[in-house]
Amino acid sequence: MNAAKYIWMNGKFIPWDEAQTHVLSHTLHYGNGVIEGTKAYKTDKGYAIFRLNEHTKRLKESAKMTHIKIPYTIEEMNKAQIELIRKNEFSGESVYIRPFAFLGYGVMGVYHVDAPVETVMAAWEWGAYLGEEGLRRGIRLKIASMTRPSNTSNMGKAKASANYLNSQMAKFEAVESGYDEALLLDDQGYVAEASGACIFMVRDGKIISPPNDNTLESITQKMVIEMAEDMGYEVIRRRISREELYIADEAFLTGTAAEITPVREIDARIIGEGERGPITEKIQSGYFDIVFGRNKKYEHYLTYINA
Ligand code: PMP
Repeated sequence: MNAAKYIWMNGKFIPWDEAQTHVLSHTLHYGNGVIEGTKAYKTDKGYAIFRLNEHTKRLKESAKMTHIKIPYTIEEMNKAQIELIRKNEFSGESVYIRPFAFLGYGVMGVYHVDAPVETVMAAWEWGAYLGEEGLRRGIRLKIASMTRPSNTSNMGKAKASANYLNSQMAKFEAVESGYDEALLLDDQGYVAEASGACIFMVRDGKIISPPNDNTLESITQKMVIEMAEDMGYEVIRRRISREELYIADEAFLTGTAAEITPVREIDARIIGEGERGPITEKIQSGYFDIVFGRNKKYEHYLTYINA
């Protein structure tokens, strides 16, 4: 990874290499931590963080779900992230921000509430999550053999570290089988989401994405829906079965890191023409216009760090 200069930890900026924790930290053993993934883009007016407040709010909400008491307000954490981008003096096109809270050292055993809460904001330069070529040509998806845990056994709306064991196993299986990314079904067999992104398909000119019944409440998905409707497309939220996805005209993934990544193949079925489809291309360029500050209409979603 691309190391940066500073990390904000428990209220202070410290050198990157000094942001350490004890090997007996609670989260390392029992997996209760919460994370965010936020992105800043280099616009004509300097770096701007995309939908900062919503990401920080989701971190707080994830923490509430998993009983972690973060001792900072959303405003304090927003400020820390703005300052973090400034202090690190980045130069690349985009910067990934990873705010998180975990349980530190001092308590063992599953009962976690007495473990100290550590709050961290880190940021580093990170390019296209599924590759530049993936953004242009599209990626190949494999439906995972494991489903997303059901709503009776986990908290999928929490962006909790523990939920990413499921994602990791699915991703590993997909990559090991020669694919780029995994798509997970829910316990009813309907399409849920990818290992770290949401899914959309296009059929007969309509844009369709599953409800958030068994997925993270994604900020990029919400942005894409708003933008696509503004462009005049009909957007439908409904369940999708795997065979319907196989015959879609187009498909694409959305996420802070995945941005808008076209899907060209799923389980050895070619999607559409096997390349980035025309509607996907419009959504993708529309999204990049927004995050890079080139569309005034959505500029209220940007927090300029030099403002
Ligand atoms: N689902 C999962 C499991 C994810 O990890 C992500 C990435 N945060 C998403 C969906 C997309 O969420 P967002 O658009 O808010 O980044």
